[in-house]
Amino acid sequence: MIRAKKKFGQNFLIDESIKRQIIQAIPNNLDRIVEIGPGLGDLTQKLIQLSGKIECFEIDSELYEILLDKFASEILEQKLKITNADALESWDEIARQEYFLVANLPYYVATNIILKALSDSKCKGLVVMIQKEVALKFSAQAGDSEFSALAILAGVRGDVELLFDVPTTAFNPQPKVVSAVIRIIKDRNLIGEELVEFEKFLKSAFLSPRKTLLKNLSSYSSKSLIESFLLKYDLPLTTRPHELCVALYLKLFKEAKNERREESSTR
Ligand code: SAM
Repeated sequence: MIRAKKKFGQNFLIDESIKRQIIQAIPNNLDRIVEIGPGLGDLTQKLIQLSGKIECFEIDSELYEILLDKFASEILEQKLKITNADALESWDEIARQEYFLVANLPYYVATNIILKALSDSKCKGLVVMIQKEVALKFSAQAGDSEFSALAILAGVRGDVELLFDVPTTAFNPQPKVVSAVIRIIKDRNLIGEELVEFEKFLKSAFLSPRKTLLKNLSSYSSKSLIESFLLKYDLPLTTRPHELCVALYLKLFKEAKNERREESSTR
């Protein structure tokens, strides 16, 4: 029996019905599925039935050896490829072709991996299990107190669906917190190349979540631009960052960006 390594966030999913629900949440007819952290290969086994091409990235070399042994024939038949590496350091390899991401993500890197997949145009969508608290942040809607830059960065790519909760008893060893499975089908690309600038803009907007948008964005654009934007949409000048929806963030970003461009061309 393998000992789970805390440093790699190893909580193995043992509940068969949850495994089935995750598999059912994955769209059909995918050409290439990337699984991060296959662990003991329980989800991997089911993924092989779904797509002709599965690629896994597992950081733990002990698990990697077990997986090579377990899936020797699938590897030989080229239905499955397993790489022993840190997924975050292997992104060029992950993104070499279009893919759909599936994972029971280790908590310590879950947010980073989701953000990486969201900004990667080769990633067509994802079904991932993460800490429920993080799932709520990604799936929050404008007006929710949880609504933050994470939900907006996801929202500009597609709808975030919080599919179901997963109790701690579904794992071995059991984690301390409840998990949840989210799905994002990336059917929008509203930011494209400007993502880095948009992230900078969002960082300013949410600088002090309790302060007003007007105050937070004062370092990014002029006060008069924000004021006239809020008035145009009948929003009070006291609007807080979590109260503006994704569509309005995009509009405001475009106006602020134009203002910056005009300013730099007159300098
Ligand atoms: N998929 C398995 C399951 O559902 O039972 C294991 C999930 S466990 C929560 C997370 C897995 O990710 C572990 O196998 C761990 O070794 C692996 N892992 C952790 N950090 C990783 C990283 N940076 N890159 C790739 N795999 C990683």
